[in-house]
Amino acid sequence: MKLILLGPPGAGKGTQCKRIVDRYGMTHLSSGDILRGERAAGSDLGHRAQAYMDSGALVPDDLIIEMMIGAMKKAGGGYVLDGFPRTVVQGEALDAALSRAGERIDGIVNLVIDDGIIVQRMTGRRSCPKCGAVYHIENLKPKVDNICDTDGEPLVQRKDDQPEVVANRLKTYHEQTAPVLGYYERTGQKIMTIDAAQAPEEVTAAVFAELDALSDQVG
Ligand code: ADP
Ligand code: AMP
Repeated sequence: MKLILLGPPGAGKGTQCKRIVDRYGMTHLSSGDILRGERAAGSDLGHRAQAYMDSGALVPDDLIIEMMIGAMKKAGGGYVLDGFPRTVVQGEALDAALSRAGERIDGIVNLVIDDGIIVQRMTGRRSCPKCGAVYHIENLKPKVDNICDTDGEPLVQRKDDQPEVVANRLKTYHEQTAPVLGYYERTGQKIMTIDAAQAPEEVTAAVFAELDALSDQVG
């Protein structure tokens, strides 16, 4: 299956993508994770993306489109896109690239949640600098406080999860990313709407119920 996970920052896209790829065996393509990897590697793209990311703005479309189309080609088979597309221009470019390759997106999982909950999720998010695992100081705690369950590394807070940047990211989301849903409604894509304010396991159960039905249809 080829999927898109839509939703505001902090909705739980990365958390649910991890569970989706474990169950359905596809590749997780997170634009945010790829950009953070480019920054850690000190690449030209990483340097160019840095100031946008740290202020809560979007990285320019042309850089992101090239990066993500390249990642999709490399992934080959099924994948779930997380954090891309984030503008209508990116959605159009994705559709054009897919149609050139004779491919299509099978479905869009849309995580719906209020801003108030998102602020609590983003400001409480902690991640492992080594393996990228994501936790929350209250909602999804590691077994030992502030230590990654997998590799024992101390957890860190993303710079763009500080309260002042979170406010800017939400503004950016409403102005530039929310219209992507309307774009997919207009183009007649299959959209699966999920209440992302539920507990993690309940969100996962709702997502799996939709995707089990979808995979029966698309094979
Ligand atoms: P996104 O990838 O959409 O930015 P994440 O998956 O990183 O979001 O989740 C944001 C934060 O919220 C993380 O700290 C995560 O542990 C926590 N979280 C994710 N899903 C839920 C949920 N259903 N209920 C409570 N907290 C959640
Ligand atoms: P995320 O990890 O998805 O929250 O993304 C972190 C940051 O990376 C965002 O705030 C943007 O600055 C940048 N970013 C990630 N994906 C995109 C995208 N599709 N378009 C533009 N910028 C992006």
